[in-house]
Amino acid sequence: MSQIHSKDTKPEMLVRKWLWSRGYRYRLHKKDLPGRPDIVLAKYKSIIFVHGCFWHCHNCKYASEPKTNKDFWNKKLGDNKKRDKKNIEKLVNRGWFVLVIWECEIKRWNFEIESKILKFLHPGVLFFKQEFYFGDTILEDIDNVAEKRETYHS
Ligand SMILES: [Zn+2]
Repeated sequence: MSQIHSKDTKPEMLVRKWLWSRGYRYRLHKKDLPGRPDIVLAKYKSIIFVHGCFWHCHNCKYASEPKTNKDFWNKKLGDNKKRDKKNIEKLVNRGWFVLVIWECEIKRWNFEIESKILKFLHPGVLFFKQEFYFGDTILEDIDNVAEKRETYHS
């Protein structure tokens, strides 16, 4: 079985959990859309793919080249990449906005990734980090929050 369509991968769950906690509602793996997108936010006409770096050929250290059966893997992964591109083109042509989030970005989940998603869903809107850390029940100790905010501004 190909793992490319594996559902409910851990990185995807993290994105879903975060979206849900922010009040975003979505449909999953919609079969009637090209590529069966992972997360469909119809209200925002937006689609988020959470891609595994290896299976979708990300240009990063997690997508290292297979050592055995090179030809097989190169073809398979090359096909995956082409299919991804085609699916995204089709979605865009149908008027969807598409965001690809990579597994490696989620490994270091932080404000950058939250900011990326928010900017995608609300283009042109300015967000301040404060809102995310004080906005709901996440009450971390103040030093910690201050440190994070500084990091963001630097
Ligand atoms: Zn990656």
